[in-house]
Amino acid sequence: MKINIITEPKIYVIGSQVVNNSELKRFLNDEGISNWETDTQVPGEKLIEHGGRLCYMSFRKPRPGGNKSYIKHILEVKHGSVLEHCVFTIVITGISRRCCEQLTRQRVGWSPSQLSQRFVDETDDNTITVVLPPEMRRHYYEYLRFEKSKHDYDEEINRQNIYRPLNPTDSSKLFESWKNTLEVSAETYESLSEELYEKMPESLGKTARRKAAREAARSVLPNCTETKIQITCNARALRHFIELRAEPSADAEIRILAINLLYVLRDISPNVFGDYDVLANENGVAYALTQYPKV
Ligand SMILES: Cc1cc2nc3c(=O)[nH]c(=O)nc-3n(C[C@H](O)[C@H](O)[C@H](O)COP(=O)(O)OP(=O)(O)OC[C@H]3O[C@@H](n4cnc5c(N)ncnc54)[C@H](O)[C@@H]3O)c2cc1C
Repeated sequence: MKINIITEPKIYVIGSQVVNNSELKRFLNDEGISNWETDTQVPGEKLIEHGGRLCYMSFRKPRPGGNKSYIKHILEVKHGSVLEHCVFTIVITGISRRCCEQLTRQRVGWSPSQLSQRFVDETDDNTITVVLPPEMRRHYYEYLRFEKSKHDYDEEINRQNIYRPLNPTDSSKLFESWKNTLEVSAETYESLSEELYEKMPESLGKTARRKAAREAARSVLPNCTETKIQITCNARALRHFIELRAEPSADAEIRILAINLLYVLRDISPNVFGDYDVLANENGVAYALTQYPKV
């Protein structure tokens, strides 16, 4: 069984909004407002400002500072509901089932669709894909270093026709025992999937048998098995998630995800996500703070 190790999540923002400017203009014309414009090019930011201004019909005399200053004011006064007009559809891969279980604890403003372990074979091509827990990284790199030096050393031994054993370090042994356990789990999963399938009555049909077999076999898969998820969520919920999960006491894997998500969203929508400071923690995993939490 091959173990495919992932060290970082991947984030794809596959959907965001467009503004129907002719309908927006029709609404403003109907209300007798002829001159409202905003300076942002980001549709979600424009919809936030429009939603906020509609509450007070404050289109006629906007304060200086444009959309950035408008959204900053929204954050200051905690008028958070208007941030819900800004929505993204995001695909995340390279996270563990364990991390995803934490991600899907968000109940409000989140719509998840996650890879099904009942339908999808987790050991396709005789390979299981797992996510390396951040604390294991240095042991993994030490293992790779040791394996390489062992290989170089073996070549040297062959040349010189001498034998001196090279001892693995504690770090490389620690990683190896982790990897060996995963191999056993993945092999058990594979054989259970096949054997349970074979033992079920044929009359059930192939799809039902395969689903039932995987559903039982997945019970032995490790927590670090990779998963994929698509979420559609609004900016208010995303801010709440970043604040909960990018803070120093959060689990390291989800903290890395939250920080990476923040970087991606800050590029797309700087007026909504530009207020966070990203700081370095002593264990090497960054964390983020804002002066406008939970708006
Ligand atoms: C460091 C850390 C450790 C954690 N450890 C654990 C743990 O050991 N065990 C565990 O089970 N969970 C744990 N969690 C998960 C945590 O308890 C929350 O379930 C998760 O972070 C989602 O937060 P939330 O409820 O604020 O978000 P959402 O579910 O998205 O809700 C957003 C907001 O809506 C409001 N809201 C939502 N539902 C209700 C409701 N029913 N009634 C009233 N108001 C509501 C609240 O204001 C809430 O903050 C942990 C989270 C963190 C960050």
